[in-house]
Amino acid sequence: MRATIFHAPGQVTVEDRPSPFAGPGEVRLRVAAASLCASDVRVYRGEKHAEPGVIPGHEVSGVVDQVGEGVTEVAEGDRVILCPIVACNRCRFCLLGRRNRCTERRTLGYDLDGGFAEYLRVPAEIVSTGHVIRVPDALPLDLAAITEPAACTLASLELCEVGAGTSMAILGAGPMGLMHLLLGRALGAGPIIVSEPVAERRALASRWGADLVLDPAVDDVRAAVRDATGDGADAVIVSVGLGSLVAPALDLVRPQGVVNLFAGFPKGAPPVPFDPNLVHYGEVVLTGSQNATTDQYRRTAQLLGHVPHMDELLTNRYLIEDAPEAYSARLALSGLKSLVEFPGVDER
Ligand SMILES: [Zn+2]
Ligand SMILES: [Zn+2]
Repeated sequence: MRATIFHAPGQVTVEDRPSPFAGPGEVRLRVAAASLCASDVRVYRGEKHAEPGVIPGHEVSGVVDQVGEGVTEVAEGDRVILCPIVACNRCRFCLLGRRNRCTERRTLGYDLDGGFAEYLRVPAEIVSTGHVIRVPDALPLDLAAITEPAACTLASLELCEVGAGTSMAILGAGPMGLMHLLLGRALGAGPIIVSEPVAERRALASRWGADLVLDPAVDDVRAAVRDATGDGADAVIVSVGLGSLVAPALDLVRPQGVVNLFAGFPKGAPPVPFDPNLVHYGEVVLTGSQNATTDQYRRTAQLLGHVPHMDELLTNRYLIEDAPEAYSARLALSGLKSLVEFPGVDER
């Protein structure tokens, strides 16, 4: 099969690899689509670790085409997405249903082969923990590939208790900031304020339903958020890995509101100063979120096909031979989500 291989930072190639087979407890996926994540780009830049020689891609959809001995959870022909986490199912987080926090967690696309290849062998632990999730018939598999980032977004929104009428300020309108806008809107949040320095992305945020769109280079973001919300936003999402945004975010949230550091920051990024009294006297919750629970994946797979504009996030599509271009497009900030597709897999 043709597969994308991560060798070292800056070195991603497309090569021949033996096609995997489904062993006992495993299934094999014919990959339909896999999308590139900001964290894949951080691996490419050397800011995050992945095993040399691994096939990247943890945002993946496909059709089950081989079922190993003893598998009863899924059947050949099932259209599925994966929660790409291999969890121990024994540690205290796993027992709480928070396998995304498993102390022995391994992840497809970083530690084990992921979806930027024609076939993906799904480890037995992923199958037995219910991390192979069937998607609704009406959901196209290219869109289904972004269930993972959308589930991470849902986890972030639920952590911030976003619901009908929750005011939100989103710092950064890259793919993940825009996904917070779209899912927040779908959950009834408002007003939603987006701050983003790139004009093109501001225009998208307006078109996709932001109530107020600001340019941090020229607008007084603090005053505008106060003006729109009264005493600050209920929830502030930092969707860019810039430490310099932490202090301003704490200044945008209302007392007893939540600031979620959703983006990952570069390894070894310098510590950031902020006014601790904003947290103390404001009784503000400063938190982070990464990945999502299996249940959030399942619910996201149901929601995804009903969120307006979600499919428009898939701006850059590549065939496997051109997979390295998906990285260059993201590095150049060209478009939003980059997708490696395998045409014909989702034909029904
Ligand atoms: Zn991702
Ligand atoms: Zn565990």
